Amino acid sequence: MMSTASSPAPAPTAVAKDRFGRVISYLRISLTDKCNLRCVYCMPEDMVFRPNSHLMQDDELLLLVRVFASLGFWKYRLTGGEPTIRHNVVEVVRGIAHTEGVRSLSMTTNGILLGELAEPLAEAGLQRVNVSIDTLDPDRFRRITRWGSFDEVWRGLEAAERAGLTPVKINVVVVRGFNDQDVTALAKLTLDHPWQVRFIEMMPFGDVATFAKEQIVTDAEIRARIASEYAGLELIDDGQLDGEARMYRFAGAPGEVGFISSVTQPFCASCNRARLTADGVLRLCLLRDKEIDLLTPLRAGASEDELREMILKAIWWKPWGHGLAEEVIPLTRVMSQIGG
Ligand code: SAM
Ligand code: SF4
Repeated sequence: MMSTASSPAPAPTAVAKDRFGRVISYLRISLTDKCNLRCVYCMPEDMVFRPNSHLMQDDELLLLVRVFASLGFWKYRLTGGEPTIRHNVVEVVRGIAHTEGVRSLSMTTNGILLGELAEPLAEAGLQRVNVSIDTLDPDRFRRITRWGSFDEVWRGLEAAERAGLTPVKINVVVVRGFNDQDVTALAKLTLDHPWQVRFIEMMPFGDVATFAKEQIVTDAEIRARIASEYAGLELIDDGQLDGEARMYRFAGAPGEVGFISSVTQPFCASCNRARLTADGVLRLCLLRDKEIDLLTPLRAGASEDELREMILKAIWWKPWGHGLAEEVIPLTRVMSQIGG
């Protein structure tokens, strides 16, 4: 059961630490590599997905979460692909939320299915959602997602708020020539809503690497555009990172504007995260291809103690940071196959 202030989490059997002294306690789990959209910066339209038999089944996923939680992993984010299209997603969320040691459980989603799922997901134990919305213009929304309906996503966002999956965060990837004209309108949502609108710098992966490098709009450029079109943003907390985001606000606004500048200002020194892909692979850094397969040994009969050993050893060798500045680009997987 998710621990609360009155029921503290049990002490972990060991703590997952890397050789640089970083304690790794945040796991982002990809529930599926599949998606009901095809965002231009994420995957090609004719994307080929892995067969379901290659992906973690519910019992395998819950066993691995139990093992990670016993190593001090207390914060979890469910992602994908699109996590809400996983068969049985509500029961999977319930299982994770009820795992001893899990204290924080959120999801990143494109919001298409939140209209029907927000309420059951909240009831199952999900605490918060990030909804990806790159523009408020329905035509540009369809162009950037290739298949998406803006109205459907907006209804999903409202359903999330009603269900108490708050504070609602909105993820925006800015792509030159697609939605760079929308950044001020998106930031201004925080004038009327207690939301966090977070601009994420586009990162290069596999098949979409060239596109991402050519069309990137940097965090500095986005802030300058907002200042020239509306008003300057005030830095909050002297620029202390909130997770991976540097936070700002318009004077007097109820909401906040965040910038995740993974490319131009990496936050690797404070990284506390690892990723579990839908095919059961532990990925140590989003932007490095260093991974270890956990699903194959699990299926071959490895015990929970043996899996713990493998995870601790892998985490020890977590890379310091990404190598984008040296042109080292992750090639083996695109974002949807890692779990962004
Ligand atoms: N399908 C869900 C969604 O779109 O929110 C969850 C998975 S998606 C891979 C997670 C986040 O990664 C989204 O906010 C998406 O915009 C972001 N993303 C995808 N490709 C990206 C890229 N090349 N660079 C930066 N962010 C990216
Ligand atoms: Fe799907 Fe999310 Fe990738 Fe868009 S960003 S294609 S919604 S996984």
